[in-house]
Amino acid sequence: MSDPSEEVTYHVDGDLVPASKATVRADDRGFRYGDAAFETLRAYGGTVFEWDAHADRLEETCNALGLNHGLSRVDLRSRIDETLSANELEDAYVRLSITRGVQPGKLTPDPDVDPTVVVYVGSLPRGGIDGEPVWDEPAILETVDTRRIPDEAVPASAKTHNYLNGILARQELEDGDEALLCDGEGFVAEGATSNVFFVEDATLYTPTTDGPVLPGITRRVVLECAERIGVPVEEGRYTPERLRNADSVFLTNTTWELRPVGSFDGGAVGGDGAESNGTGGNRGNDDGRVLETLSRAYDERVETQCY
Ligand code: PMP
Repeated sequence: MSDPSEEVTYHVDGDLVPASKATVRADDRGFRYGDAAFETLRAYGGTVFEWDAHADRLEETCNALGLNHGLSRVDLRSRIDETLSANELEDAYVRLSITRGVQPGKLTPDPDVDPTVVVYVGSLPRGGIDGEPVWDEPAILETVDTRRIPDEAVPASAKTHNYLNGILARQELEDGDEALLCDGEGFVAEGATSNVFFVEDATLYTPTTDGPVLPGITRRVVLECAERIGVPVEEGRYTPERLRNADSVFLTNTTWELRPVGSFDGGAVGGDGAESNGTGGNRGNDDGRVLETLSRAYDERVETQCY
């Protein structure tokens, strides 16, 4: 935005409107029931990062909800691009929401959908390994009692407006800033809004998306980067104990990119080395090297795709 004091403009059902006037109907199912799909994206240098992957996941969410919104990808993308241009934003946070719209007050959805489509944007610095990350400090991660909703109840791959699982988990935090949710059997699933990775003997581990884990776009890019640069990867089911003893732990999501975990359940991550080297943890046996190499590879991907 040229003038930071200017009000941000959102895109609501085809119109660009000031954020304070961007309203939806009280009868909208997205409001009444959380009956809506969304994506959080980032734009770097004015270009949306990993658009196809986000559009694919949005489609999967809509399929899971049986929400036939009838809008093309080109249409959705152009709403995002218009909103970025209207705000003169290059490095930005973008959220695209599609609800099942206003329907009579009954739970069973009508197959005829007049969707409500909203694009939110906000300025977000470029980040990256040599820039300012959006997070201030390494994450303080805490295991919480709230369990990840099983796939049999609500598929974790559906990114819907209903974030109560993550909200309840975050409310349990004592000193932490991200909650670690386990599945019903006590295996690590994911953070409230992030995927989890750990490094052990230079191998990268992450919970499998066969469990109740949102298939994060950042997670996928990190796995592709690992493959490209030759970091061995294992996807599986792990207990919180494995994270506790790992050489390093980090979290991923679209806004944070790769965020180191400084402490886990009150202890430094990475054993003896972590406490003494002043990095807030996450510099155990591998000295944070795998995380740094992956962060560089991620950065290169942003650079190649968006600049
Ligand atoms: N898990 C959950 C529950 C999330 O809300 C998010 C954020 N969308 C992620 C993982 C990370 O996904 P992404 O990398 O696509 O942002």
